[in-house]
Amino acid sequence: MAISPISPESAPPPYPHRHLLGIEGLSPDDISQLLDLSEEYAEQSRGRGRKLSTLSGCTCINLFFENSTRTRTSFELAGKRLGADVINISVGSSSIKKGETLIDTAMTLNAMHADVLAVRHPDAGAVKLLSEKVNCAVINAGDGSHEHPTQALLDALTIRRRRGHLRDLQVALCGDIAHSRVARSNIYLLQTMGARVRVVAPPTLLPPELERLGVEVFHDMRRGLADCDIVMMLRLQRERMQGTFVPSIREYFRFFGLDYEKLQFAKPDALIMHPGPMNRGVEIDSQVADDIDRSLIHEQVEMGVAVRMACLDLLAHGVREAGAL
Ligand code: ASP
Repeated sequence: MAISPISPESAPPPYPHRHLLGIEGLSPDDISQLLDLSEEYAEQSRGRGRKLSTLSGCTCINLFFENSTRTRTSFELAGKRLGADVINISVGSSSIKKGETLIDTAMTLNAMHADVLAVRHPDAGAVKLLSEKVNCAVINAGDGSHEHPTQALLDALTIRRRRGHLRDLQVALCGDIAHSRVARSNIYLLQTMGARVRVVAPPTLLPPELERLGVEVFHDMRRGLADCDIVMMLRLQRERMQGTFVPSIREYFRFFGLDYEKLQFAKPDALIMHPGPMNRGVEIDSQVADDIDRSLIHEQVEMGVAVRMACLDLLAHGVREAGAL
């Protein structure tokens, strides 16, 4: 049963950006606004009246040029919970496969009068390019190794709900930093919100621009996890690798895979995170991943829906208010 939208008195203040293309460049206030509204949606999603009419009459399109389970599903669920019409376009079943360019796709989408477009693309920068050609708001659902802003927001929301704040927390991002858009977006967000970030990886899995990112770098888990509050494990992004980056999976797990032996270097109450999909026995041991006292992995998925509801809500209202449609 549909319940009434958030009342005008409690309607969120306008969000100052038209698109959400990345975390880089967002202010602490921008991030807090997104997290605070996400928090409200997280509570509401746990309650009974989960179906709202906040975005009734709006059209949200999910355009995915790369595979996805969690992100695409949660954008769909988020749009539906807000009462929007949601359309999913995946490359395998669209004209894009037949050679339509990104710009032609944009023109088609414009003709459909979408309000918000969530786009995932294998190339860094492709989502921004699309955002310059369409009339609606665009959310980057992951572009190559560049950014994945909604993932960083849901990670931050998950941490904030457990720890109450982000400021001064010591967070270790471990694994394939070089190819990870999750790592980049998390580094921007956590640093903007006052957390301390370090990366732990073999030198072959670190990106060249690391110095610019201002994080501490470690090449072994023992030192890298020392005194950490949060241990975030990242998947080896083999689809983005050209050549060999690790000697063998066995060796990689031995030195960089998170198991209880390595976890004991972190704080005794350190929490474990992973954006998924997980490769059990590669970057994380199964028992550690499933440890209900330490692992936040399922909560991350739950918060993904709440964060995407907040992003759709703020951006769709922004587009409507700007009278762009
Ligand atoms: N799901 C995340 C992403 O799309 C992480 C991963 O694929 O490893 O980047």
